[in-house]
Amino acid sequence: MLSDRERKSQRRRERVALSTSVSYMLTWLTFAVAWAVGVFPGKHLAILLLMTAFVSIGFWLVFRLKLNLRFRDKDLTAEQMALSLIPPLYALFFLENPQARSSILLIIFIPLVYGILGLRRQQFIRIGILNFLFCILLIGSLWWLRPAYVDLRIEAVQLTALLVVIGQLILIGGYISELRNRLKKNNIQLEEALETIQEMASTDELTGLSNRRALMEKIEQEFSRCTRGGPGFSVCLIDVDFFKRINDTFGHHAGDQVLRELAQMMKDCLRKIDCVGRFGGEEFLLVLPQTALEGAVMKAERLRQAVEGMRFDSIEQGLTITISIGVAQYDCNENFEQTIARADTALYAAKNRGRNQTRTELDIEASSAPA
Ligand code: GH3
Ligand code: MG
Ligand code: MG
Repeated sequence: MLSDRERKSQRRRERVALSTSVSYMLTWLTFAVAWAVGVFPGKHLAILLLMTAFVSIGFWLVFRLKLNLRFRDKDLTAEQMALSLIPPLYALFFLENPQARSSILLIIFIPLVYGILGLRRQQFIRIGILNFLFCILLIGSLWWLRPAYVDLRIEAVQLTALLVVIGQLILIGGYISELRNRLKKNNIQLEEALETIQEMASTDELTGLSNRRALMEKIEQEFSRCTRGGPGFSVCLIDVDFFKRINDTFGHHAGDQVLRELAQMMKDCLRKIDCVGRFGGEEFLLVLPQTALEGAVMKAERLRQAVEGMRFDSIEQGLTITISIGVAQYDCNENFEQTIARADTALYAAKNRGRNQTRTELDIEASSAPA
């Protein structure tokens, strides 16, 4: 499966492949004009059309069918450069006028210019040399097989010019590839920095849990899932009982240690889809997606009992703490702040009834109902 980023890159490659395929077909037009003015044989024009279409449609299909993803360079720059040279070189061989040939040599540069943008310096040097060798081979075979169409003095000037231009392109290509590398490195650093910033913005420094902002985002997600008809969710507001005493008796550092251990324990206790975070001070909020009130109470009770069983021996031998929990299930007719407010009311009730217990809004209603 492709990641979002890879999918986007592939879509970009497909778009580029389509436009380069269309523009590549235009090279054939040049030879069609040469045929029209009588310096290119019609038979070879038809073959050239087939070759050009084969290369351009072939590459476009490779990108369309995502076959390019099997290669190391997914843009297939070197492959496109090498293959797209063949049809114009073939056509140049049959061009019957040396003057026309020299102007059409320009077409040979087009793939090289594409290469400047996509290749590393070493690759570019290889393709440049290959390009030059192809041209020498072309002139050599022309001189050998069709000497009437070759003026070696002019060809020598042309080949030297070609060599100079390829050399310049290699320099520019190397410079651009260096820029690309630097840009890539900068992008990676930026992405890493962004990831760190995002993590810092959503994490509570002391406990490593989600902070209040991240919690609210999570609830908002669940809230919008519910409004779209998804399953409901519940929240548990958790508060450490008599936490001030820990601070007063053992110091603030000990209090911090308790919060850290408590956070770790809660993290270990939960499902992957649940989310627990520090709501503020020594209060934690637990978001339980796809969980109704009854299930949430069971989970909260399990958590409460687990905390009751914890020992903070590093602070004092046998030191224990307890927590009180208020639970509320999201109701479709309210906003999520109201759900949290109902959990807070339930927590208040748990505190009032002696702490170390789990309460819901239903408990409050039941106890305040007239007998
Ligand atoms: P109860 O909730 O049972 O009513 O009593 P409590 O003692 O826990 O009450 P309260 O909510 O008033 O006290 C919370 C204390 O938590 C007060 C504050 O100093 C302390 N606290 C808040 N944040 C931190 C923190 O990050 N580290 C430490 N060590 N203490 C904190
Ligand atoms: Mg509190
Ligand atoms: Mg407290």
